[in-house]
Amino acid sequence: MIQHEKIHFKQQIEMLFLFFYFWYITEFLIRLVIHKNVDKAYRNISFEREAYHHEQDDNYLFTRKKFRWIHFIKG
Ligand SMILES: [Zn+2]
Repeated sequence: MIQHEKIHFKQQIEMLFLFFYFWYITEFLIRLVIHKNVDKAYRNISFEREAYHHEQDDNYLFTRKKFRWIHFIKG
């Protein structure tokens, strides 16, 4: 598993999977309205921003605080 997917897995666990997908889709739709661009909407989902931002850091999941993705909701 690559780091990006590992980060998503941690997010899914803390969101009990169901809420992860619920919020993922909800945030995507909100951002789609804002950006009017599918790729931009996807890239700016807070789960994705956290994963992209830290995907090069192999130690990230050892130091990551729970619900860290919330910090990525705002730019
Ligand atoms: Zn991703």
